[in-house]
Amino acid sequence: MIFFECFILLALVVSGQCFPKPYDENVSYAYDFPYMSRNDWGARPPVNTVSLSLPVPYVIIHHSYIPGPCSTTNQCINAMRSMQNSHQLHQGWDDIGYNFAVGGDGVVYEGRGWNNVGAHALGYNFDSIGIVFIGDFVSRLPPEIQLNAAKRLIEKGVELGHISRDYYLLGHRQVTATECPGNALFREITTWDRFANYNM
Ligand SMILES: [Zn+2]
Repeated sequence: MIFFECFILLALVVSGQCFPKPYDENVSYAYDFPYMSRNDWGARPPVNTVSLSLPVPYVIIHHSYIPGPCSTTNQCINAMRSMQNSHQLHQGWDDIGYNFAVGGDGVVYEGRGWNNVGAHALGYNFDSIGIVFIGDFVSRLPPEIQLNAAKRLIEKGVELGHISRDYYLLGHRQVTATECPGNALFREITTWDRFANYNM
């Protein structure tokens, strides 16, 4: 029985299913952190896309609230699908609203990505990358690996020239009347590099 399980695990490793694949093998960079492209998590195609002009001056942090936190990649993939369903099928938007999501499994999930305008912060969508923390972070913090996934994504965005070097980091509540990204997570991001202490 143990032998059988090891064989299954080996088969998964060999077939690549145990490791997230890089964003796109044809482009000249690969992510040096766990990353799942839309293909990897089974996204539906967008109804329409609008090009984001890069680099953007703002990074805006959200929490999903619902779906709640995910700690395994399967749970996080389900959360991604449920957010896309909710935004695309129920709200009638073109796609999942966020540019990226980070899961409690430490994986960065591609939403609209770097190149497409999101639908996450009214008035700022054309000037920002929106990153959602999957989960409800009103009274508790995301795990360290989830916080680090977001930090590494932002660093990579700066490195790739998609986010301005002198960007402003904001919580959603600073630009819209919302409690997002939750009190605990908002307090956390006020300690991060480039946090901008202003309200619209
Ligand atoms: Zn938000």
